[in-house]
Amino acid sequence: MSLSTVQESITKESPKAAENIVFDTRDLNLWYGETHALKNINLAIKERDITAIIGPSGCGKSTYLKTLNRMVEMIPTVRTSGDIKYNGKSILNKGFKVEDLRTRVGMVFQKPNPFPKSVYENVAYGPKIHGIRNKKILDEIVEKSLRDAFIWEEVKDRLKENAYGLSGGQQQRLCIARTLAIEPDVILMDEPTSALDPISTLKVEELVQDLKQDYSIIIVTHNMQQAARISDRTAFFLNGEVVEFDDTETLFSNPTDQRTEDYITGRFG
Ligand code: ADP
Repeated sequence: MSLSTVQESITKESPKAAENIVFDTRDLNLWYGETHALKNINLAIKERDITAIIGPSGCGKSTYLKTLNRMVEMIPTVRTSGDIKYNGKSILNKGFKVEDLRTRVGMVFQKPNPFPKSVYENVAYGPKIHGIRNKKILDEIVEKSLRDAFIWEEVKDRLKENAYGLSGGQQQRLCIARTLAIEPDVILMDEPTSALDPISTLKVEELVQDLKQDYSIIIVTHNMQQAARISDRTAFFLNGEVVEFDDTETLFSNPTDQRTEDYITGRFG
């Protein structure tokens, strides 16, 4: 069974509750032990949008992102209430198969984290786990993923070299290629450019805007200019709450909440 066939069967079981909403979060609360990190979050994230999550440090941005692929529950003290629907299916239910979600929802982290393997093996790793063994198919997936991540030209003659030999910016695009190789429909990005120099940052920003044609992207960033440059919608988080969620242009030019205005004009944070 090919990866696409597996994914089709998952999609068939998951009819969309509301058109164009990929993640629908309702009254989500999350605690780390006694710390109430997410408070009554309500967010409907649209398909094929770039959604930016901004806010000061410690206000719950990463935590929220990690609830969307259920990574947060790897921490034993975590408790949640409320609901998140992915394409109409509640993902916080005990019965929900988290492996299905991880195939559909890829994640890119703050620091590039390639495996200590060759460039080729980094990208082929996911498809191999999903049972693809045919060398020709793997070659095609690797090339397409690297091309789609804007890095093919830089690494096509270095496929057998260890990924650790690439620059930080190249490693991050390689990690994005690795995510694309499993054919997700959502890509979560947790401050993906904060460890990169300005030129690499611009390359990743261009890449993110290009990927929007085929993927829904949710990006946490502490860089407001970046959110304003690349996103369609922006959510402003503060102390575990969503203060405001709107079209990026509106949120930055005409925010409705005083706290949003104070934050985007640099009065705190
Ligand atoms: P942000 O991404 O906005 O910087 P986080 O989601 O990382 O914020 O953190 C939100 C809150 O949850 C903070 O108070 C933080 O200290 C707490 N927190 C985050 N991770 C953990 C953890 N593993 N254990 C306990 N508390 C945590």
